[in-house]
Amino acid sequence: MPAAGVDSQMTLVRTVGEVRAIVAKWRAEGLSLALTPTMGALHEGHLSLVRRAGSLADRTIASIFVNPSQFAPHEDFSSYPRREAEDLALLKAEGCDLVFAPSAEEMYPEGFQTSVSVASISQGLCGASRPHFFGGVATVVCKLLNQVRPDFAVFGEKDYQQLLVIRRMVRDLDMPVEIIGAPIVREEDGLAMSSRNAYLNADERRKAGALNKVLAKMAERLARGDDVGETIHFARTALGDAGVASIDYLEVRNALTLESAGSGALTAPSRIFAAIFLGKTRLIDNWPVEPAWQHAPR
Ligand code: AMP
Repeated sequence: MPAAGVDSQMTLVRTVGEVRAIVAKWRAEGLSLALTPTMGALHEGHLSLVRRAGSLADRTIASIFVNPSQFAPHEDFSSYPRREAEDLALLKAEGCDLVFAPSAEEMYPEGFQTSVSVASISQGLCGASRPHFFGGVATVVCKLLNQVRPDFAVFGEKDYQQLLVIRRMVRDLDMPVEIIGAPIVREEDGLAMSSRNAYLNADERRKAGALNKVLAKMAERLARGDDVGETIHFARTALGDAGVASIDYLEVRNALTLESAGSGALTAPSRIFAAIFLGKTRLIDNWPVEPAWQHAPR
């Protein structure tokens, strides 16, 4: 019998001990496990990861934890949306087997003093504007992977740099889990779904719809061989014209190493990365781009 439950099909637990007991039982039955870590306020993007997890393993586990260590004091930790009852209903409808929703005290008990830091891939992009962020993410994901010990853990490409940071951590620390990246789920106008989209007023929401369209146009231009610098300039102007007054970053980087694409035409599979502010809300998005076919030198 589950220790605490939403119903007989989905169990909700709040302690590491309870997770371990359930996981040990499943392991003893020879079942495979897939974990989807989230901060809750779930939308279709999160649920697509849960479905992916369900397609990979016998049992799916989702975690809901708004992780204080990845927020700076001036950021939105206290106002971040928390909708646990709705989240549990959504997860249950997806057939999720176990939800782990610990308290901050359970994850960071008194005396906690360890952190995981993944060096160069955490630098630049979100790591530049949120210097505390990837340390907090790597530490909490490392803990969740140790607590659950899943065969698979599913992360969205929406947070592409985060996905690479976690892949690097898992490789570097020999963690026995396969990290799965899942595509970005978008609203009808192409805006990447995000729990933070709820912060936008009607005017900001309209402007937010421009971001993905500008990234798509950039990808088109880069794929036909346009200069990287000129394409970024074009995109900055296009975003300004759409009413996006504050761009945190807009960059083109190697899709695997995150090295800057430099100037001229692209020479390697790349990714366009953007973060913008609309009012106080910071939105991120990214877009894949393949280089134009290059003539072999004669
Ligand atoms: P969060 O709750 O924002 O920490 O996100 C939890 C997971 O959901 C992360 O792996 C995110 O990359 C992923 N995610 C968030 N939004 C989307 C989206 N629109 N499409 C796909 N995955 C997403």
